Amino acid sequence: MAEHEQADGSGEALPLPGADHPVAQPVAQPDWHAMPRNQRLAAHKVECNACPVLCQISEGKAGACDRYANQGGALVRVDPVLLLRQRVDAAGGAVAAADADADAAWAGALVPFAAEGAAPLPLLAGEPAVFVTAVGASTTYPDYKPAPFIVSSLADGVDMVTVVTEGIFSYCSLKVKIDTDRWLGPEQANVRCQGEVVGHVTTAEYGSQMLSLGGVHHITGGSKKEGRITVDMMLRLGNQQAVDLHIDGGAQVLVQAGRAPVVNGRPESRMRVGCGSATVGMFAKQFVGQVDEVVVIDDHITGVLSQ
Ligand code: SF4
Repeated sequence: MAEHEQADGSGEALPLPGADHPVAQPVAQPDWHAMPRNQRLAAHKVECNACPVLCQISEGKAGACDRYANQGGALVRVDPVLLLRQRVDAAGGAVAAADADADAAWAGALVPFAAEGAAPLPLLAGEPAVFVTAVGASTTYPDYKPAPFIVSSLADGVDMVTVVTEGIFSYCSLKVKIDTDRWLGPEQANVRCQGEVVGHVTTAEYGSQMLSLGGVHHITGGSKKEGRITVDMMLRLGNQQAVDLHIDGGAQVLVQAGRAPVVNGRPESRMRVGCGSATVGMFAKQFVGQVDEVVVIDDHITGVLSQ
């Protein structure tokens, strides 16, 4: 982890622990805070422009979201930027491109986390030392600001550039893929959590039902209760906890990352591998020589394969 102060997109040196090729990108930029959008800003306050709330923050205080603060008249991001070690041990679910055993043992986590206090593992040759996350990186909002961290590194002799920026709460949303063949509800139907509208049913993809959850209309556009429940719902889903959702005119679904959905009280145990097009594309060659004719019936695309 590296403490950092700048929250205004003005560029920052980022020492990468253990990296062979740490390169910072301190780019001289104009002072983005020279012109606060509220011209009546009191002299002892700074205006945070990292989201549309535009908090005016007194010296020593934090803004409404506790992410930005006024430190000696400068706007600072209060959390450190989070860098993860790329490699964890196989028991924890290793992901290391050069380590076939680790790949085989990978438990499925997209970004592996080492246990707090775990001893650092030796890095493999050519392996990037760290995984640069956007957590604590600060934002580009408003969008004319450059990315707060532009990090270059070398992996297996290949130059890599990682650009990270932190999303702002008000625009956070999730697209949730529900692996079920069951009809969940009509497209555009409201999705509710604890009675509040937190999203809608959107276009099915890959043979799965898709929900669009969160977003600015539910987080800031409705009642405070709607906003709170929407953010809590996204937080719980993001932390792999179960969330109960109701679709207007449709099903009740218990959703949890990494677990099969429970639709109207019935845990899902199997579903088709994809839409009709996927079935034809994936299995056409395997059918050759096994059967004379195959009819793939699907509610999206129907295929007929004849020898
Ligand atoms: S990012 Fe946080 S501190 Fe900054 S304006 Fe928005 S709510 Fe206020």
